[in-house]
Amino acid sequence: MDISTSSQTNTLAILVINCGSSSVKFSLIQPKSGINLLSGLAECLTTPQASIKIKYNINDSINDNNENQSETSFLSAPFDHQQALNALVSKLKALDLVEKIIAVGHRVVHGGEHYSKPILINDDVKRTINNLAKLAPLHNPANLIGINVCQKAFPKLSQIAIFDTAFHQSMPEKAYLYGIPFELYSKHGIRRYGFHGTSHYFVANQVAQLINKPLEQCNLISAHLGNGCSVTVIKNGKSVDTSLGMTPLEGVMMGTRSGDIDAGIIVHLVEQLSYSIEQIDTLLNKQSGLLGLSTLSNDCRTLEAAMFDDNHSKSAQAKIALTVFCYRIAKSIASFSASLTQLDGLIFTGGIGENSSWVRQQILKQLSLLNFQVCEEKNQATRFGTSGNIATKSSRPCWVIATNEEWVIAQQSAQLLNTIKNNSASN
Ligand code: ADP
Repeated sequence: MDISTSSQTNTLAILVINCGSSSVKFSLIQPKSGINLLSGLAECLTTPQASIKIKYNINDSINDNNENQSETSFLSAPFDHQQALNALVSKLKALDLVEKIIAVGHRVVHGGEHYSKPILINDDVKRTINNLAKLAPLHNPANLIGINVCQKAFPKLSQIAIFDTAFHQSMPEKAYLYGIPFELYSKHGIRRYGFHGTSHYFVANQVAQLINKPLEQCNLISAHLGNGCSVTVIKNGKSVDTSLGMTPLEGVMMGTRSGDIDAGIIVHLVEQLSYSIEQIDTLLNKQSGLLGLSTLSNDCRTLEAAMFDDNHSKSAQAKIALTVFCYRIAKSIASFSASLTQLDGLIFTGGIGENSSWVRQQILKQLSLLNFQVCEEKNQATRFGTSGNIATKSSRPCWVIATNEEWVIAQQSAQLLNTIKNNSASN
């Protein structure tokens, strides 16, 4: 059966599971249309604040006006990944949605050098994901919990892994090697892998459709700015460099992560200030970035509000944090132009990229040498899910695109399922 053309397309859906270190995001998505039949989030897992929210709209038609229904915190806290996923499975059964599921697509954070494409999960794949936990200790084990629960709950369904690192496997050696002894790469896999691949791929593909050009001919720089932030340069449709590295700590400054720092600072912290490895890990991953510099919050909205409020005690600190944030992103975008001989334009995505006109304006102001000029009116109007080009007519284009990683996972899972079915039919 060809999933993409079947008359049943409207009723078939992929269950998309995204297990983070302390959260589980899930959706039941029709791969062709991107319509969500059900979606939800369990967060603050294993803490007394653990909560779960599920929204569903089990009527298939987009034109029907039936209201979305939602349920919040029907599990008593604390609960963990497994309990949250089991609650999801019960809900899918109670709503008679299980028969609509054709496969489960799992977002897996680290695929190392093993996976550049979606893959059908078997015991070997699970072993590899487990071995790669040394590169993503907070994420790959959580991803495996998601896979195990879904295998048990839906033993007849295909489970497919979509890797966050996969899109960046096209990076050349000059982009992925660090300037450290080669043996650390060849024996221990210490290299740059990049993350947010599904998001960068999605927004690049959206722009290709907007400008009516095959993705394989597009040259773009994409800035995914959320709590985690990364910049990716896409040459002829492929990622050729990206700012996140072996772990999601490298590159531009983020909500609570420092991004690039002089590695000598770590030695200094240990030798002069007696920091332990755990303290350094917490400092750089959880106490730095916008939060660390502002001493107020990691949330861009809170910082913008404080910056524009002269009476706020942290107004100046908020401005410093946001200014450094924007400057570092602009520098990263400019440096990535060195990978290209042509540039079709820039893309902003992620919670900040999609919504903060101020951040976009600050970044674009610093990129006039690359011929970017922001149109203030379009910049203000393009927020909260609206997509479009926010540059002036004479400027190089700059698109704001709402990302949708779940839809990519659903589409790629359906495509892989089709390929497998077509191959087995022709054998
Ligand atoms: P995650 O990386 O966790 O998926 P998101 O992509 O949801 O994060 O982005 C979260 C960030 O987006 C937060 O810093 C938040 O303040 C910011 N954000 C969301 N809406 C706005 C807005 N209207 N203006 C400025 N920043 C916003």
